[in-house]
Amino acid sequence: MEECIFCKIVNNEIPVYKIYEDDSVFAFLDIRPISKGHTLVIPKKHAKDIFELDEETLKKISSASKKIAQKMKDNLGADGVNLFNSSGVFAEQTVFHFHLHVIPRRKDDNICFTRAVTAKEGISQEEMKETAGKLKIGE
Ligand code: 5GP
Ligand code: ZN
Repeated sequence: MEECIFCKIVNNEIPVYKIYEDDSVFAFLDIRPISKGHTLVIPKKHAKDIFELDEETLKKISSASKKIAQKMKDNLGADGVNLFNSSGVFAEQTVFHFHLHVIPRRKDDNICFTRAVTAKEGISQEEMKETAGKLKIGE
């Protein structure tokens, strides 16, 4: 992907603070950190979002993210971490090369991820049951 900013980062065309690299995964500090140490973990091979990313690479991204989270705890004074990915415009994705955010959290940091979690309109028990049926895997 010629114009993809994260592909350029993988190809060393744009400087970043690199955290980790192996044959298929790359991790670096976010340019606009939510907190000190905010890291993005990405596949080296371009994949737009979670729907395009292959499972094998996702496992490697998860594994690297766990190691990075541990480093945040051990060396950066993190009391916890948030891991999240936005896939798709309506999920507020802004860079269309898959990335997992790993965000160190500290006691009293005043960041709030749960504020927007509750659906605006109430969801009935009937809808909850129907929804679970639609999402269920296996059986
Ligand atoms: P999204 O909004 O797609 O979930 O996250 C994109 C993230 O990429 C943002 O947090 C943004 O700060 C980060 N970002 C965008 N461009 C660059 C860049 O050129 N370098 C670095 N290090 N991070 C970037
Ligand atoms: Zn890319």
